[in-house]
Amino acid sequence: MGWDEIKKNRWRLSREQGTIIKDWGGRIPVALIYPNSYYVGMSNLGLHTIYRLLNSYGEVVCERAFWEKEGKAQKAPILSMESQRPLSDFAVLAFSITQELDYFNIVPILNASGIPLYAADRDDRHPLVIAGGPCIIANPQPLSPFFDCLCIGEAEAILPVMLPTLSEGINNKRHELLKALASLPGVYVPLAHPETPIVRQWVSNLDDFPATSSIITPDTELGDLYLIEIERGCNWGCRFCLVSNAFRPMRFRSMDKLIAQAKLGLNYRKRIGLVGPAVSDHPQIEELLVRLRQMGAGLSISSLRVKPLSPIVLREMANGGARTITLAPEAGSQRLRQIIKKGISEDDILEAIGKVAKQGIKQLKLYFMIGLPSETDADIEEIINLVISGKKILDRKQSGSRLSLNVAPFVPKAGTPFQWLPMAPLATLNRRLSLLKNKLPPRGIKLKCESPAWSQVQGVLSRGDTKLAEVLASMEEVSLAGWRQAVEKCHLDIDFYTHQWDTSQELPWAIIDSGTEPEKLKLELDRALG
Ligand code: SF4
Repeated sequence: MGWDEIKKNRWRLSREQGTIIKDWGGRIPVALIYPNSYYVGMSNLGLHTIYRLLNSYGEVVCERAFWEKEGKAQKAPILSMESQRPLSDFAVLAFSITQELDYFNIVPILNASGIPLYAADRDDRHPLVIAGGPCIIANPQPLSPFFDCLCIGEAEAILPVMLPTLSEGINNKRHELLKALASLPGVYVPLAHPETPIVRQWVSNLDDFPATSSIITPDTELGDLYLIEIERGCNWGCRFCLVSNAFRPMRFRSMDKLIAQAKLGLNYRKRIGLVGPAVSDHPQIEELLVRLRQMGAGLSISSLRVKPLSPIVLREMANGGARTITLAPEAGSQRLRQIIKKGISEDDILEAIGKVAKQGIKQLKLYFMIGLPSETDADIEEIINLVISGKKILDRKQSGSRLSLNVAPFVPKAGTPFQWLPMAPLATLNRRLSLLKNKLPPRGIKLKCESPAWSQVQGVLSRGDTKLAEVLASMEEVSLAGWRQAVEKCHLDIDFYTHQWDTSQELPWAIIDSGTEPEKLKLELDRALG
């Protein structure tokens, strides 16, 4: 066990506000594990929400654990933050998984903790290992052999039903507990081989469950913000979007609750970060921002939709000290924006950039995807032309403005209308990225690109089945070379997962009933491809 790790955890705890320290006596100890670093995990609002929710139950003590690969002694057990206990001391290990590339960290976490990797190999001596998160809701199968149960839906809907079963059965025989858990809504127990799909669960009234920063720390990416979720789900239905499909329907928090949460947050931080997939869709967004400003709050919003983009929202953001505005056109050509159903035109995008510049906000970030269905090099030229036009607008309105682009390859996601579509070949993605790199940085436009090679890996995992677990378990190091070696060792045809699938193809995630009829997804796909 690393003394350095204990020292580091204690130092971090000493800089936190809101940490919940509970006595273990008579309680179910749950380790809430974020399979990435403290720095990344502590900016994840889902983690804060589940931590608060679990600790709100008298019969539970919940402590956090993270995966710090830097400086970690090989095979040293992972320790919880709050009491510095190894994970093997906990009755339940609950993983909060937000992205596919974190799947790689699950295997070393379990291995380092001396817990059998496969659910089938665990017995009454071992903790119950569970997981939830957006990728799990969409497609739990690549990880399902590792987990005793997976939560298909929102934690606020599933945990209140699950905890009484846990309380009652945690000290009983494991197979009895698993049987009881398998009968609950939204709980997928792979070893129980359910015969009917698991129905995704969601809460109808968000106001019943606050989702705000519960621990304040400067040692995280968004450490200067008090985060508040203002809505969940999104009605725009962009055809590639996992959020839109895994968190239906769109729901909003009430003004009264949001103001009360902000009041509390301002005791800790001067700036409030409003979180949601399309924040400007909140029906009272203008009033909310005006009131937050009257309370003296600085403001930050993750990203805004290009349209509608209210001047009042932008004004309040500017007055609230927002340094950067992020917009997501996603595609450069009108043709592709129609295919993905983005619902915005070039004029809308340029007009939005003009509005941002008018408010004196000097930094603009734009999100684009490459490798979208039917994309050609000409579509990339349209990104370049659009961005250059946008830069001219910014420069005309004010000097010293900065424009940056975040570019990510399109990855087909389970449960979306694009779930059957292929990823663009690596060579194509690299060439299109080069087109952007050659034209934009020389004009003073900053470019940040996600690695096409890792995006391909992400594509395999997002449409993966249970065979992927063997690959994850076989990896000797988390690197592209490690991935390729493991794929080879397991004789897995990874091309299958990134190629076009026929809509009659049986889907690995057919075990999930997301609430959207497959026929509806097929119809949307047909509409997209005309
Ligand atoms: S607007 Fe954003 S969150 Fe909503 S569906 Fe489109 S991409 Fe997804």
